[in-house]
Amino acid sequence: MKYISTRGGVAAQQFSDILLGGLMADGGLSIPESYPQFSTEQLAEMAKLSYPDLAFAVIRHFVDDIPADDLKALIAKTYTAAVYCNGRNPADADQITPIIKLDDTLVIQELSNGPTLAFKDMAMQLLGNLFEYVLAAKGEQVNILGATSGDTGSAAEYAMRGKKGVNVFMLSPFGKMSPFQRAQMFSLQDENIYNLSVHGFFDACQDIVKDVNKDAAYKAKYKIGAVNSINWGRIVAQVVYYFKGYFAAAKNVGDVVDFCVPSGNFGNICAGHIARQMGLPIGQLVVATNENDVLDEFFKTGGYHPRGLDRTYETSSPSMDITKASNLERFVFDLVGRDASKLAAMWKSVETGGGFEISPTEFAQMRDEYGFKSEASTHEDRVVNIREVFEKFSVQIDPHTADGYKAAKAHRRNDVVMVIMETALPAKFETTMVEALNQPPARPAGLVGLEDLPQRFDAIEADAAKVKAYLAERIAL
Ligand SMILES: *Cc1c(COP(=O)(O)O)cnc(C)c1O
Repeated sequence: MKYISTRGGVAAQQFSDILLGGLMADGGLSIPESYPQFSTEQLAEMAKLSYPDLAFAVIRHFVDDIPADDLKALIAKTYTAAVYCNGRNPADADQITPIIKLDDTLVIQELSNGPTLAFKDMAMQLLGNLFEYVLAAKGEQVNILGATSGDTGSAAEYAMRGKKGVNVFMLSPFGKMSPFQRAQMFSLQDENIYNLSVHGFFDACQDIVKDVNKDAAYKAKYKIGAVNSINWGRIVAQVVYYFKGYFAAAKNVGDVVDFCVPSGNFGNICAGHIARQMGLPIGQLVVATNENDVLDEFFKTGGYHPRGLDRTYETSSPSMDITKASNLERFVFDLVGRDASKLAAMWKSVETGGGFEISPTEFAQMRDEYGFKSEASTHEDRVVNIREVFEKFSVQIDPHTADGYKAAKAHRRNDVVMVIMETALPAKFETTMVEALNQPPARPAGLVGLEDLPQRFDAIEADAAKVKAYLAERIAL
Protein backbone atom coordinates (compact mmCIF):
# COMPACT_ATOMS: atom_id res chain seq x y z
CA MET A 1 0.00 0.00 0.00
CA LYS A 2 1.35 3.37 -1.05
CA TYR A 3 0.23 6.78 0.20
CA ILE A 4 -0.68 9.86 -1.80
CA SER A 5 -1.59 13.41 -0.82
CA THR A 6 -5.19 14.66 -0.81
CA ARG A 7 -3.89 17.65 -2.82
CA GLY A 8 -2.19 15.54 -5.47
CA GLY A 9 1.23 17.21 -5.38
CA VAL A 10 3.42 14.46 -3.93
CA ALA A 11 4.82 11.18 -5.35
CA ALA A 12 3.48 8.04 -3.66
CA GLN A 13 5.25 7.14 -0.40
CA GLN A 14 5.63 4.19 1.95
CA PHE A 15 4.00 3.87 5.37
CA SER A 16 7.26 4.41 7.29
CA ASP A 17 7.92 7.63 5.40
CA ILE A 18 4.57 9.24 6.21
CA LEU A 19 4.44 7.84 9.77
CA LEU A 20 6.87 10.37 11.22
CA GLY A 21 5.74 13.33 9.13
CA GLY A 22 2.91 15.82 9.57
CA LEU A 23 1.46 17.56 6.53
CA MET A 24 2.52 16.31 3.09
CA ALA A 25 4.92 18.59 1.20
CA ASP A 26 2.02 20.14 -0.79
CA GLY A 27 0.08 20.98 2.39
CA GLY A 28 -2.31 18.05 2.00
CA LEU A 29 -2.91 14.95 4.14
CA SER A 30 -1.60 11.46 3.43
CA ILE A 31 -4.19 8.93 2.31
CA PRO A 32 -3.84 5.34 1.02
CA GLU A 33 -4.09 4.93 -2.75
CA SER A 34 -7.06 2.62 -2.18
CA TYR A 35 -8.87 0.97 0.73
CA PRO A 36 -8.49 -2.79 1.30
CA GLN A 37 -11.80 -4.65 0.91
CA PHE A 38 -13.31 -7.35 3.12
CA SER A 39 -16.18 -9.66 2.10
CA THR A 40 -18.88 -10.82 4.51
CA GLU A 41 -17.17 -14.24 4.64
CA GLN A 42 -13.89 -12.62 5.63
CA LEU A 43 -15.66 -10.47 8.21
CA ALA A 44 -17.25 -13.55 9.75
CA GLU A 45 -13.77 -15.01 10.25
CA MET A 46 -12.41 -11.75 11.66
CA ALA A 47 -15.27 -11.62 14.18
CA LYS A 48 -13.64 -14.52 16.05
CA LEU A 49 -10.29 -12.80 16.54
CA SER A 50 -8.88 -11.29 19.74
CA TYR A 51 -8.28 -7.54 19.67
CA PRO A 52 -4.55 -7.76 18.79
CA ASP A 53 -5.15 -10.39 16.10
CA LEU A 54 -7.98 -8.30 14.64
CA ALA A 55 -5.75 -5.22 14.71
CA PHE A 56 -3.08 -7.13 12.78
CA ALA A 57 -5.65 -8.44 10.26
CA VAL A 58 -6.73 -4.86 9.53
CA ILE A 59 -3.50 -2.89 9.80
CA ARG A 60 -1.27 -5.26 7.81
CA HIS A 61 -3.09 -4.22 4.62
CA PHE A 62 -1.91 -0.64 5.16
CA VAL A 63 1.75 -1.42 5.93
CA ASP A 64 4.09 -2.84 3.26
CA ASP A 65 7.45 -1.87 4.62
CA ILE A 66 7.51 -3.44 8.09
CA PRO A 67 7.96 -7.26 8.06
CA ALA A 68 4.69 -8.98 9.06
CA ASP A 69 6.18 -10.71 12.12
CA ASP A 70 7.57 -7.45 13.45
CA LEU A 71 4.29 -5.63 12.89
CA LYS A 72 2.43 -8.41 14.63
CA ALA A 73 4.75 -8.24 17.63
CA LEU A 74 4.41 -4.44 17.88
CA ILE A 75 0.62 -4.74 17.84
CA ALA A 76 0.63 -7.60 20.36
CA LYS A 77 2.67 -5.63 22.87
CA THR A 78 0.39 -2.59 22.44
CA TYR A 79 -3.07 -4.03 22.98
CA THR A 80 -2.79 -5.86 26.30
CA ALA A 81 -5.13 -6.15 29.27
CA ALA A 82 -2.39 -4.64 31.45
CA VAL A 83 -2.40 -1.38 29.44
CA TYR A 84 -6.19 -1.09 28.94
CA CYS A 85 -7.04 -1.93 32.54
CA ASN A 86 -8.97 1.18 33.63
CA GLY A 87 -12.45 0.09 32.55
CA ARG A 88 -15.53 -0.40 34.69
CA ASN A 89 -15.11 -4.15 34.78
CA PRO A 90 -11.45 -5.20 35.07
CA ALA A 91 -12.43 -8.75 34.05
CA ASP A 92 -13.20 -7.39 30.54
CA ALA A 93 -9.80 -5.78 30.08
CA ASP A 94 -8.66 -8.31 27.46
CA GLN A 95 -11.52 -7.08 25.23
CA ILE A 96 -9.57 -3.76 25.07
CA THR A 97 -12.76 -1.95 23.98
CA PRO A 98 -15.61 -3.74 25.81
CA ILE A 99 -19.22 -2.73 25.20
CA ILE A 100 -22.02 -1.83 27.60
CA LYS A 101 -25.57 -2.62 26.48
CA LEU A 102 -27.93 0.16 27.53
CA ASP A 103 -30.92 -1.43 25.85
CA ASP A 104 -31.64 -3.74 22.94
CA THR A 105 -30.33 -1.38 20.28
CA LEU A 106 -28.25 1.19 22.16
CA VAL A 107 -24.68 0.29 23.10
CA ILE A 108 -21.64 2.15 24.46
CA GLN A 109 -18.20 1.08 23.25
CA GLU A 110 -15.55 1.80 25.89
CA LEU A 111 -12.56 3.33 24.13
CA SER A 112 -11.07 5.06 27.15
CA ASN A 113 -9.65 2.33 29.36
CA GLY A 114 -6.01 3.10 28.56
CA PRO A 115 -3.53 4.93 30.79
CA THR A 116 -4.89 8.48 30.31
CA LEU A 117 -8.60 7.58 30.33
CA ALA A 118 -9.36 8.98 26.87
CA PHE A 119 -9.75 7.29 23.48
CA LYS A 120 -6.53 8.91 22.23
CA ASP A 121 -4.61 6.12 23.99
CA MET A 122 -6.08 3.63 21.49
CA ALA A 123 -3.95 5.05 18.69
CA MET A 124 -1.19 6.79 20.59
CA GLN A 125 0.02 3.64 22.35
CA LEU A 126 0.55 1.94 18.98
CA LEU A 127 2.22 5.05 17.61
CA GLY A 128 4.75 4.94 20.46
CA ASN A 129 5.78 1.40 19.52
CA LEU A 130 5.78 2.14 15.77
CA PHE A 131 7.89 5.27 16.25
CA GLU A 132 10.49 3.41 18.30
CA TYR A 133 10.69 0.64 15.69
CA VAL A 134 10.89 2.89 12.62
CA LEU A 135 13.40 5.27 14.22
CA ALA A 136 15.68 2.36 15.17
CA ALA A 137 15.44 0.97 11.63
CA LYS A 138 16.36 4.35 10.12
CA GLY A 139 18.95 5.15 12.81
CA GLU A 140 17.16 8.41 13.56
CA GLN A 141 15.74 10.30 16.54
CA VAL A 142 12.77 12.62 16.91
CA ASN A 143 12.06 15.31 19.48
CA ILE A 144 8.34 15.79 19.78
CA LEU A 145 7.36 19.34 20.61
CA GLY A 146 3.71 19.92 21.45
CA ALA A 147 1.27 22.15 23.27
CA THR A 148 -1.59 20.74 25.29
CA SER A 149 -4.46 21.83 27.46
CA GLY A 150 -5.10 18.25 28.56
CA ASP A 151 -5.87 15.05 26.64
CA THR A 152 -3.48 14.99 23.68
CA GLY A 153 -0.35 15.86 25.62
CA SER A 154 -0.87 13.26 28.29
CA ALA A 155 -1.73 10.54 25.74
CA ALA A 156 1.47 11.38 23.82
CA GLU A 157 3.60 11.29 26.97
CA TYR A 158 2.21 7.95 28.13
CA ALA A 159 2.77 6.53 24.65
CA MET A 160 6.35 7.76 24.27
CA ARG A 161 7.66 7.33 27.83
CA GLY A 162 10.83 5.28 27.87
CA LYS A 163 10.87 4.88 24.06
CA LYS A 164 14.32 4.89 22.47
CA GLY A 165 15.04 7.62 19.96
CA VAL A 166 12.17 9.80 21.18
CA ASN A 167 12.01 12.78 23.55
CA VAL A 168 8.79 14.64 24.32
CA PHE A 169 8.74 18.33 25.19
CA MET A 170 5.19 19.26 26.14
CA LEU A 171 4.13 22.84 26.83
CA SER A 172 1.09 23.42 29.01
CA PRO A 173 -0.42 26.60 30.45
CA PHE A 174 0.66 27.15 34.06
CA GLY A 175 -2.23 26.68 36.49
CA LYS A 176 -4.82 26.10 33.75
CA MET A 177 -5.19 22.31 33.79
CA SER A 178 -7.28 20.38 36.29
CA PRO A 179 -5.36 18.92 39.26
CA PHE A 180 -5.99 15.45 37.82
CA GLN A 181 -4.66 16.32 34.36
CA ARG A 182 -1.61 18.04 35.83
CA ALA A 183 -0.87 15.07 38.09
CA GLN A 184 -1.25 12.68 35.17
CA MET A 185 1.44 14.43 33.16
CA PHE A 186 3.74 15.80 35.82
CA SER A 187 3.99 12.57 37.83
CA LEU A 188 5.83 10.87 34.95
CA GLN A 189 9.45 10.38 35.98
CA ASP A 190 10.81 9.10 32.65
CA GLU A 191 13.96 10.86 31.49
CA ASN A 192 12.71 11.35 27.93
CA ILE A 193 9.58 13.25 29.01
CA TYR A 194 9.88 16.99 29.66
CA ASN A 195 6.91 18.96 30.97
CA LEU A 196 7.24 22.69 30.44
CA SER A 197 4.77 24.74 32.42
CA VAL A 198 4.42 28.02 30.53
CA HIS A 199 3.47 31.30 32.16
CA GLY A 200 0.60 32.10 29.80
CA PHE A 201 -2.55 30.66 28.24
CA PHE A 202 -2.85 27.66 25.91
CA ASP A 203 -2.73 29.96 22.85
CA ALA A 204 0.70 31.19 23.96
CA CYS A 205 1.90 27.58 24.14
CA GLN A 206 0.60 26.92 20.64
CA ASP A 207 2.25 30.07 19.30
CA ILE A 208 5.61 28.98 20.71
CA VAL A 209 5.32 25.62 18.94
CA LYS A 210 4.48 27.43 15.68
CA ASP A 211 7.42 29.83 16.12
CA VAL A 212 9.89 27.02 16.72
CA ASN A 213 8.60 25.16 13.66
CA LYS A 214 9.01 28.26 11.48
CA ASP A 215 12.77 28.18 12.12
CA ALA A 216 13.55 25.52 9.49
CA ALA A 217 17.27 25.32 10.33
CA TYR A 218 16.59 24.81 14.05
CA LYS A 219 13.85 22.32 13.28
CA ALA A 220 16.13 20.23 11.07
CA LYS A 221 19.14 20.42 13.40
CA TYR A 222 17.20 19.39 16.50
CA LYS A 223 14.92 16.92 14.66
CA ILE A 224 11.70 18.52 15.89
CA GLY A 225 8.56 16.48 15.20
CA ALA A 226 4.93 16.23 16.29
CA VAL A 227 2.18 13.68 16.92
CA ASN A 228 -0.91 15.69 16.00
CA SER A 229 -4.34 14.48 15.02
CA ILE A 230 -3.60 14.34 11.28
CA ASN A 231 -1.01 11.60 11.78
CA TRP A 232 -2.00 8.66 9.57
CA GLY A 233 -0.72 6.12 12.10
CA ARG A 234 -3.34 7.34 14.53
CA ILE A 235 -6.16 7.06 11.99
CA VAL A 236 -5.25 3.53 10.94
CA ALA A 237 -5.09 2.33 14.56
CA GLN A 238 -8.57 3.78 15.11
CA VAL A 239 -10.07 1.89 12.16
CA VAL A 240 -9.62 -1.34 14.16
CA TYR A 241 -12.02 -0.53 16.97
CA TYR A 242 -14.89 0.07 14.54
CA PHE A 243 -14.49 -3.57 13.48
CA LYS A 244 -14.28 -4.66 17.11
CA GLY A 245 -17.35 -2.62 18.09
CA TYR A 246 -19.27 -3.87 15.08
CA PHE A 247 -18.58 -7.53 15.90
CA ALA A 248 -19.51 -7.02 19.55
CA ALA A 249 -22.75 -5.14 18.79
CA ALA A 250 -24.15 -6.72 15.59
CA LYS A 251 -26.60 -9.56 16.11
CA ASN A 252 -25.26 -11.25 12.94
CA VAL A 253 -22.25 -10.43 10.80
CA GLY A 254 -23.72 -8.63 7.79
CA ASP A 255 -26.33 -6.66 9.77
CA VAL A 256 -26.13 -2.90 9.52
CA VAL A 257 -24.86 -1.07 12.64
CA ASP A 258 -24.83 2.72 13.21
CA PHE A 259 -22.06 4.57 15.08
CA CYS A 260 -22.21 7.89 16.92
CA VAL A 261 -18.95 9.70 17.66
CA PRO A 262 -18.17 12.75 19.86
CA SER A 263 -16.04 14.73 17.41
CA GLY A 264 -13.54 17.57 17.24
CA ASN A 265 -10.77 17.22 14.70
CA PHE A 266 -12.73 14.50 12.87
CA GLY A 267 -9.97 11.91 13.43
CA ASN A 268 -12.07 9.34 15.25
CA ILE A 269 -15.07 9.35 12.91
CA CYS A 270 -12.82 9.56 9.84
CA ALA A 271 -11.57 6.11 10.87
CA GLY A 272 -15.21 4.99 10.92
CA HIS A 273 -15.67 6.27 7.38
CA ILE A 274 -12.61 4.28 6.29
CA ALA A 275 -13.86 1.10 8.02
CA ARG A 276 -17.14 1.55 6.11
CA GLN A 277 -15.25 1.96 2.82
CA MET A 278 -13.46 -1.32 3.59
CA GLY A 279 -16.76 -3.20 3.61
CA LEU A 280 -17.77 -3.07 7.26
CA PRO A 281 -21.60 -2.79 7.19
CA ILE A 282 -21.89 0.58 8.91
CA GLY A 283 -25.16 2.41 8.23
CA GLN A 284 -25.07 5.88 9.74
CA LEU A 285 -22.04 7.73 11.07
CA VAL A 286 -23.43 10.35 13.45
CA VAL A 287 -21.14 13.29 14.28
CA ALA A 288 -21.73 14.75 17.75
CA THR A 289 -20.43 18.24 18.55
CA ASN A 290 -20.77 20.66 21.43
CA GLU A 291 -21.40 24.42 21.09
CA ASN A 292 -18.39 24.53 18.75
CA ASP A 293 -20.60 23.24 15.97
CA VAL A 294 -18.64 23.88 12.76
CA LEU A 295 -19.02 20.18 11.87
CA ASP A 296 -22.72 20.09 12.73
CA GLU A 297 -23.17 23.04 10.38
CA PHE A 298 -21.29 21.25 7.61
CA PHE A 299 -23.26 18.01 7.85
CA LYS A 300 -26.59 19.87 8.06
CA THR A 301 -26.01 22.52 5.37
CA GLY A 302 -23.06 21.40 3.22
CA GLY A 303 -21.16 24.58 4.09
CA TYR A 304 -17.76 24.29 5.79
CA HIS A 305 -16.70 27.57 7.41
CA PRO A 306 -13.97 27.24 10.05
CA ARG A 307 -14.01 29.98 12.65
CA GLY A 308 -11.46 32.18 14.34
CA LEU A 309 -10.33 31.81 17.93
CA ASP A 310 -12.70 34.64 18.84
CA ARG A 311 -15.58 32.31 17.98
CA THR A 312 -14.27 29.26 19.81
CA TYR A 313 -16.10 28.63 23.06
CA GLU A 314 -14.67 27.03 26.18
CA THR A 315 -17.13 24.27 27.03
CA SER A 316 -17.58 21.44 29.50
CA SER A 317 -16.60 18.94 26.77
CA PRO A 318 -13.27 20.71 26.24
CA SER A 319 -11.57 18.14 23.96
CA MET A 320 -14.13 19.03 21.28
CA ASP A 321 -13.50 22.78 21.42
CA ILE A 322 -12.17 23.15 17.88
CA THR A 323 -12.31 25.88 15.27
CA LYS A 324 -11.46 23.68 12.31
CA ALA A 325 -11.60 19.92 11.79
CA SER A 326 -8.29 18.99 10.17
CA ASN A 327 -9.17 15.42 9.21
CA LEU A 328 -12.35 16.44 7.39
CA GLU A 329 -10.10 16.88 4.36
CA ARG A 330 -9.64 13.10 4.19
CA PHE A 331 -13.40 12.44 3.97
CA VAL A 332 -14.09 15.27 1.51
CA PHE A 333 -11.33 13.84 -0.72
CA ASP A 334 -13.45 10.69 -1.08
CA LEU A 335 -16.66 12.71 -1.37
CA VAL A 336 -15.38 14.62 -4.41
CA GLY A 337 -14.39 11.35 -6.08
CA ARG A 338 -10.70 11.70 -5.12
CA ASP A 339 -10.34 14.72 -7.40
CA ALA A 340 -7.18 16.24 -5.87
CA SER A 341 -7.28 19.52 -7.78
CA LYS A 342 -10.88 20.14 -6.78
CA LEU A 343 -9.99 19.32 -3.18
CA ALA A 344 -6.95 21.60 -3.26
CA ALA A 345 -9.11 24.51 -4.46
CA MET A 346 -11.63 23.92 -1.66
CA TRP A 347 -8.93 23.94 1.02
CA LYS A 348 -7.23 26.93 -0.50
CA SER A 349 -10.45 28.77 0.16
CA VAL A 350 -10.49 27.42 3.74
CA GLU A 351 -6.92 28.57 4.33
CA THR A 352 -7.56 32.06 3.07
CA GLY A 353 -10.29 32.52 5.65
CA GLY A 354 -13.32 31.59 3.56
CA GLY A 355 -14.65 28.09 3.33
CA PHE A 356 -16.71 26.20 0.78
CA GLU A 357 -20.14 24.80 -0.04
CA ILE A 358 -20.49 21.34 -1.51
CA SER A 359 -22.95 20.80 -4.39
CA PRO A 360 -26.49 19.52 -3.77
CA THR A 361 -25.51 16.19 -5.35
CA GLU A 362 -22.51 15.86 -3.03
CA PHE A 363 -24.69 16.84 -0.08
CA ALA A 364 -27.17 14.06 -0.89
CA GLN A 365 -24.31 11.57 -1.34
CA MET A 366 -22.75 12.58 1.96
CA ARG A 367 -25.95 11.90 3.86
CA ASP A 368 -27.36 8.92 1.96
CA GLU A 369 -24.42 7.06 0.44
CA TYR A 370 -21.85 7.82 3.15
CA GLY A 371 -24.43 7.89 5.96
CA PHE A 372 -23.27 11.05 7.75
CA LYS A 373 -25.67 12.76 10.17
CA SER A 374 -24.95 15.20 12.99
CA GLU A 375 -26.19 16.87 16.15
CA ALA A 376 -24.89 19.59 18.49
CA SER A 377 -25.24 19.87 22.29
CA THR A 378 -25.11 22.53 25.00
CA HIS A 379 -23.83 22.36 28.57
CA GLU A 380 -27.40 21.97 29.77
CA ASP A 381 -27.85 18.97 27.44
CA ARG A 382 -24.72 17.34 28.85
CA VAL A 383 -25.86 17.70 32.44
CA VAL A 384 -29.35 16.37 31.66
CA ASN A 385 -28.04 13.44 29.64
CA ILE A 386 -25.36 12.40 32.15
CA ARG A 387 -28.15 12.33 34.74
CA GLU A 388 -30.53 10.44 32.44
CA VAL A 389 -28.01 7.69 31.62
CA PHE A 390 -27.18 7.29 35.30
CA GLU A 391 -30.82 7.15 36.38
CA LYS A 392 -32.00 4.85 33.57
CA PHE A 393 -28.99 2.54 33.23
CA SER A 394 -26.80 3.10 36.33
CA VAL A 395 -23.87 3.99 34.07
CA GLN A 396 -21.72 7.10 34.53
CA ILE A 397 -20.71 8.74 31.24
CA ASP A 398 -18.39 11.71 30.78
CA PRO A 399 -19.47 15.04 29.18
CA HIS A 400 -18.06 14.14 25.71
CA THR A 401 -19.85 10.81 25.65
CA ALA A 402 -22.98 12.66 26.80
CA ASP A 403 -22.79 14.75 23.60
CA GLY A 404 -22.69 11.41 21.77
CA TYR A 405 -25.67 10.08 23.70
CA LYS A 406 -27.79 13.08 22.74
CA ALA A 407 -26.89 12.72 19.06
CA ALA A 408 -27.49 8.96 19.17
CA LYS A 409 -30.99 9.46 20.58
CA ALA A 410 -31.75 11.93 17.79
CA HIS A 411 -30.74 9.53 15.02
CA ARG A 412 -31.35 6.00 16.30
CA ARG A 413 -33.54 3.81 14.12
CA ASN A 414 -35.92 0.94 14.85
CA ASP A 415 -34.16 -2.41 14.74
CA VAL A 416 -30.71 -0.99 14.00
CA VAL A 417 -28.07 -1.13 16.73
CA MET A 418 -26.43 2.23 17.47
CA VAL A 419 -22.97 2.22 19.05
CA ILE A 420 -21.95 5.34 21.01
CA MET A 421 -18.19 5.79 21.19
CA GLU A 422 -17.03 6.58 24.74
CA THR A 423 -14.17 9.04 24.23
CA ALA A 424 -13.23 9.68 27.89
CA LEU A 425 -13.97 8.36 31.36
CA PRO A 426 -15.96 10.50 33.84
CA ALA A 427 -13.04 10.55 36.32
CA LYS A 428 -11.34 13.21 34.19
CA PHE A 429 -14.21 15.70 34.45
CA GLU A 430 -15.10 15.93 38.10
CA THR A 431 -16.73 19.40 38.09
CA THR A 432 -19.38 18.58 35.47
CA MET A 433 -19.98 15.11 36.92
CA VAL A 434 -20.64 16.57 40.37
CA GLU A 435 -22.96 19.16 38.85
CA ALA A 436 -24.94 16.38 37.13
CA LEU A 437 -24.89 13.63 39.75
CA ASN A 438 -24.08 15.33 43.06
CA GLN A 439 -21.29 12.87 43.60
CA PRO A 440 -17.68 12.61 42.45
CA PRO A 441 -17.16 10.26 39.48
CA ALA A 442 -15.81 6.75 39.93
CA ARG A 443 -12.05 6.57 39.57
CA PRO A 444 -10.13 3.48 38.34
CA ALA A 445 -8.38 1.72 41.22
CA GLY A 446 -4.88 2.28 39.88
CA LEU A 447 -5.32 6.07 39.81
CA VAL A 448 -6.49 6.64 43.36
CA GLY A 449 -4.05 9.05 45.03
CA LEU A 450 -2.56 10.19 41.70
CA GLU A 451 -2.47 13.82 42.86
CA ASP A 452 -0.22 12.87 45.79
CA LEU A 453 2.64 11.49 43.67
CA PRO A 454 5.78 13.61 43.30
CA GLN A 455 5.58 15.91 40.26
CA ARG A 456 8.36 16.74 37.81
CA PHE A 457 8.19 19.82 35.55
CA ASP A 458 10.06 23.00 34.69
CA ALA A 459 8.43 26.42 34.70
CA ILE A 460 9.34 28.60 31.72
CA GLU A 461 8.43 32.01 30.33
CA ALA A 462 6.17 32.27 27.26
CA ASP A 463 9.15 32.99 25.02
CA ALA A 464 10.09 30.87 21.99
CA ALA A 465 13.80 31.74 22.33
CA LYS A 466 13.86 30.43 25.91
CA VAL A 467 12.07 27.23 24.85
CA LYS A 468 14.54 26.72 21.98
CA ALA A 469 17.47 27.12 24.37
CA TYR A 470 15.88 24.68 26.83
CA LEU A 471 15.54 22.02 24.12
CA ALA A 472 19.02 22.65 22.70
CA GLU A 473 20.57 22.01 26.12
CA ARG A 474 18.83 18.67 26.46
CA ILE A 475 18.94 17.17 22.97
CA ALA A 476 22.05 15.06 22.38
CA LEU A 477 22.92 15.35 18.68
C1 LIG B 1 -9.80 14.26 21.12
C2 LIG B 1 -11.13 14.00 21.75
C3 LIG B 1 -12.34 14.08 21.01
C4 LIG B 1 -12.37 14.47 19.56
O1 LIG B 1 -11.82 13.50 18.72
P1 LIG B 1 -11.44 13.84 17.21
O2 LIG B 1 -10.73 12.65 16.72
O3 LIG B 1 -10.55 15.05 17.29
O4 LIG B 1 -12.71 14.13 16.49
C5 LIG B 1 -13.53 13.77 21.65
N1 LIG B 1 -13.55 13.45 22.95
C6 LIG B 1 -12.42 13.37 23.70
C7 LIG B 1 -12.53 13.02 25.14
C8 LIG B 1 -11.17 13.63 23.13
O5 LIG B 1 -10.06 13.55 23.88
